Amino acid sequence: MAKIRIAQYWGAGCGGCDVALLDIDEKILGVAEMADIVFWPIAVDAKLKDVEAMPDGYITATFFNGAIRNSENEHVAKLLRKKSQLVVSFGSCACFGGIPGLANMYTLKEIMDYVYTKTPSSDNVERVFPTPHWKAPEGDLEIPVMYDQVFTLDHVIDVDYYMPGCPPTTNLINEFLGIVEKHVKEGAPLPPKGSVIASQKTLCDECPRTRTVKKVDKIFMPYEIDIDPKKCMLEQGVICLGPSTRAGCGAKCLEGNQPCRGCMGPTADVLDQGGSMLSALASIFSIGNGEGLLNEDDIMELMLQVKDPLGTFYSYTMPSSIIKRKVKERKATTAPKEA
Ligand code: SF4
Ligand code: SF4
Ligand code: SF4
Repeated sequence: MAKIRIAQYWGAGCGGCDVALLDIDEKILGVAEMADIVFWPIAVDAKLKDVEAMPDGYITATFFNGAIRNSENEHVAKLLRKKSQLVVSFGSCACFGGIPGLANMYTLKEIMDYVYTKTPSSDNVERVFPTPHWKAPEGDLEIPVMYDQVFTLDHVIDVDYYMPGCPPTTNLINEFLGIVEKHVKEGAPLPPKGSVIASQKTLCDECPRTRTVKKVDKIFMPYEIDIDPKKCMLEQGVICLGPSTRAGCGAKCLEGNQPCRGCMGPTADVLDQGGSMLSALASIFSIGNGEGLLNEDDIMELMLQVKDPLGTFYSYTMPSSIIKRKVKERKATTAPKEA
């Protein structure tokens, strides 16, 4: 049997997705048996020029992790798209922008200013910033151009499959590798283009915690209360993104008595994970006008207890959300006076 060819690349991310692919234990031997890894910067000594020399469609499947933050990420994504039959958006950063996507709350100038002049370790009175092109005595130097916002992989290229998670779990990786193996060995059909390799349910559906119809009138940070490990987080007043998050991780954080932060992204019928979570939250408040019920002012006060709303509701999905990024209000221009 001819071997398939796999590539893996790391854009704007932490490297955890690369480690996750190595973490599939003995299954990695199965991968080695069915596939040649033709490009994987952290593990294989193949250079970009080797990819450039490959015929179009030469790579069977590319697993691209990390978001698109600079010109190099975009260039490599486009190159790998051209050279690959299938591209898998691997991990939450590639699928939704992930944690790096929270940078969309700042402009590039604000980020550069902070990092190069305001951090405690900055000693930069001359305000020197990275320059994409530089003429040095040794020759011309070029570094990638940072973009003003973080993009998802499918903002810049066409993607065949999505495998969310921060990082994707071993189970999901094995499930997908099994599908590819069956396709290669037996000609079994691949999932429809655009499929998300994860459960179609919400995390609450696979969470073992007990739920009642209890309403809440207080919100707590996880460290502020003694969380009952058997009861639903939300019903204890701790914000848990389970209702708006896709299942498939095995409720990992809940197992560790921590609320879900939403790394599997929204479910198929949810357009905006943060917006959906806000409406789920509204449904557990005891709203009304009677005694012990919350009116509009009480709810405003309650929501003000959420210390970092965007970081809470859009931890992993800011670039793919409806909001996408912070937009500064345009200053009203004054009409010129008539002469
Ligand atoms: S999805 Fe998570 S593990 Fe993967 S690169 Fe992004 S931050 Fe790292
Ligand atoms: S809200 Fe969180 S704790 Fe409650 S059932 Fe859903 S996933 Fe479990
Ligand atoms: S519980 Fe939520 S944040 Fe934790 S791994 Fe699962 S989807 Fe991700």
